[in-house]
Amino acid sequence: IFMVLLGVATASGLTVLILILVEATSVLLPAKTKFGIVFDAGSSHTSLFVYQWPADKEKDTGLVSQALACEVEGPGISSYTLDPSQAGESLRTCLEKALALVPRAQHRQTPVFLGATAGMRLLRQKNSSQAEDILVAVSQVLSQSPLDFWGAEVLAGQDEGAFGWITVNYLLGRLIQYSSGQWTQPAEGMLVGALDMGGASTQICFAPRGPILDQSSQAIFRLYGTNYSIYTHSHLCFGRDQALLRLLARLLQSSRTTLLRHPCYHSGYQTTLPLATLSESPCIHTAEPLDPTQNLTVEGTGNPGACVAAIRGLFNFSCQDEGDCAFNGVYQPPVQGQFYAFSGFYYTFHFLNLTSRQPLGTVNASIWDFCQRSWWQVKSSYPGQERWLPDYCASGLYILTLLRDGYGFQEETWPSIEFQQQASGTDIGWTLGYMLNLTGMIPAEVPVEWRAQSY
Ligand code: AMP
Repeated sequence: IFMVLLGVATASGLTVLILILVEATSVLLPAKTKFGIVFDAGSSHTSLFVYQWPADKEKDTGLVSQALACEVEGPGISSYTLDPSQAGESLRTCLEKALALVPRAQHRQTPVFLGATAGMRLLRQKNSSQAEDILVAVSQVLSQSPLDFWGAEVLAGQDEGAFGWITVNYLLGRLIQYSSGQWTQPAEGMLVGALDMGGASTQICFAPRGPILDQSSQAIFRLYGTNYSIYTHSHLCFGRDQALLRLLARLLQSSRTTLLRHPCYHSGYQTTLPLATLSESPCIHTAEPLDPTQNLTVEGTGNPGACVAAIRGLFNFSCQDEGDCAFNGVYQPPVQGQFYAFSGFYYTFHFLNLTSRQPLGTVNASIWDFCQRSWWQVKSSYPGQERWLPDYCASGLYILTLLRDGYGFQEETWPSIEFQQQASGTDIGWTLGYMLNLTGMIPAEVPVEWRAQSY
């Protein structure tokens, strides 16, 4: 703080001295805290994250933390095909919150990014010009803000997985370690795999024990002087929402009536939805076209055995007989090491109280038990949670099938999965890794000042 003395002559001829205290920190001194902003434009909704870190420790590891998370109102940006400008407008409220948090003097130096994931990947496949119009609309809003707009893009599935992996390992301090006065690389076995479940796709990323035999699922990078070769794959249409819609479409095809008895919903549960929800999904290809003007009535039967059988129908496991393969012909080396399972994995398992490393058998039994409860019982046990409640049985069994039968986790490897939403007070997802990468905050080489310390 410094003082400014002003002399003002008044009408009576007296000079009044005015003392003004000016806060100088934001004017003259370099900012102590820096910020970065990332929009995660997912298939079901968009979130904004503001990250902060000490300005003089930009290249240190583990010092970036989450200063704000904001949920954008409305659906994911890929839903705004009829009015792309609304996709841009939808971002304004969260953007304003971020602007209020970052000191005004730093707005111009604060980078803002938007990364879109599987919802936009699917839209681009279906209608690339619609996807482009939406990206233009969001870019317009972000570039008009006082922030430093770095761009809006659709992330490749492999990158989405790899950035999630970087986020987890960065937050847990598994990339570089300071101990006994030296910076060292933690043992390779300390690296943590990342399991991410979005609405339209799901990602798996880990450092396998052996070589990666398919280059398209290999990510190679150098961080803090160490080379990493990791397996990364994004299974499009295997995200939670699209998987459950595909399940509905499969059951509908075999029942051939618009009253569907669904084993993955609780007995006594009934709902109606427009068939357009299924016919519009880019993940659903039915032998006979669905009439989008009709409604579908779904009635739960609460039968977990039949539900698992139906869910297994979403996968083709035959490639597993021929070596390292997950499903649908997708190469995957055997799972290795500890894993963090976040986003959709966490939401469902947290609700089902299954995040305490229970054995696989216990997890299986408790999901079956939950599925067999009547809708009336479930509804009265969890008042006010109607939004997600009907789907927890289906998504619980879907996750179990994916992890066990798809990825190959077994009784012995299951306890290596940690279901977590946060590490060090920061949400786990691809956004932090993406920002660290784009801003060069994880250098390829160990910074000089660090190397000097170890001499
Ligand atoms: P997100 O990580 O927000 O993209 O969400 C991943 C998946 O979880 C999507 O299928 C969402 O529909 C679903 N989801 C989001 N929030 C919840 C919640 N509180 N409970 C259950 N599922 C959720």
